[in-house]
Amino acid sequence: MKKTGIVKDSIYLEHIKDSGHIESPGRLFHVYEMLETPEMTDLLQFIKPRMATKEEISWNHDINYINRVEKTQEMEWVQLDPDTLANNVTWKASCLAAGGGLALIDEIFEKNIDNGLLLCRPPGHHAIHSKAMGFCIFNNIAISACYLKKKYNLKRILIVDWDLHHGNGTQDSFYNDKQVLYISTHQYPYYPGSGAAEQVGTGEGKYYTINIPLSAGHGDMDFANIYNLIIKPIVKQYNPQFILVSAGFDIYFDDPLGEMKVTEKGFAYLSRVLIDLADELCDGKIAFFLEGGYNFEGLAQGIKSVIFECLGQNYLLTDELNAFKAKKDSKNPVISRVMEIHGKKWDFGY
Ligand SMILES: [Zn+2]
Repeated sequence: MKKTGIVKDSIYLEHIKDSGHIESPGRLFHVYEMLETPEMTDLLQFIKPRMATKEEISWNHDINYINRVEKTQEMEWVQLDPDTLANNVTWKASCLAAGGGLALIDEIFEKNIDNGLLLCRPPGHHAIHSKAMGFCIFNNIAISACYLKKKYNLKRILIVDWDLHHGNGTQDSFYNDKQVLYISTHQYPYYPGSGAAEQVGTGEGKYYTINIPLSAGHGDMDFANIYNLIIKPIVKQYNPQFILVSAGFDIYFDDPLGEMKVTEKGFAYLSRVLIDLADELCDGKIAFFLEGGYNFEGLAQGIKSVIFECLGQNYLLTDELNAFKAKKDSKNPVISRVMEIHGKKWDFGY
């Protein structure tokens, strides 16, 4: 069995408490309850996050914006963006969310764990250089990618984003950078509006941003198909040194914000593909960062299935896994379109 680390902290439950906001502490509370069952606690290693420093955050964000967020400590309530609120613990929770990713990475490099999950609030993938957006304050996964470059001198970092929404902040951070390959599946057109297939990166980063925009209604087998036909071959060619995953559980079939049809078995398969790629290409180094997900049951069950795959305890039965793997039907026009655009750079084996 592999060693899987979980970053969790009670401070993540204090950010915008009692606001009635859909990005509520209840989301994480339900997940933490699942983790605290005897079935789970014995299997996992819990890791305390640390505060990311202002310098580390500034690798991805404007210092004036960071200082502005710091000042929210003195205020009871602040609106940072139409969707994004802060209270007097938001600064601390946000620094611990960004730093939680860094702690997880250090633990993986120190070989105390094989892989792990950052289960934090606020989420990160919409936050841009100088602005909070879409419930996100600091871009946790982008700061972690910068950390991998700066502290560990990595040159090929993969970020896969399966959240319902396009990770506009992460895309912006690395749009002209081939040292970070960003691949996103998302409902489209939808919030935040970016993520068309034609957005492929610029300069050195051209073809290192891969957008797979999807209409509503895609389910487990559709996602399996995309992972088998597009994501696997690109990742093998890129040969990443570390895999980061923006894991949003708002593609769950019963999510109040989304219209996708993914079940916990689908989450198990998507994580299985990425874990297998990490095993093959980068000594198993992979970390999952919680982004969205607003159905409490979907979050808890989805995260549980990802954890079992991380542990190597196969959440899926062999027949189910084989059915997902065998799915090789490319009638989906989005798949053909993405292959046509990115076929200039990547070989899809056709
Ligand atoms: Zn989302």
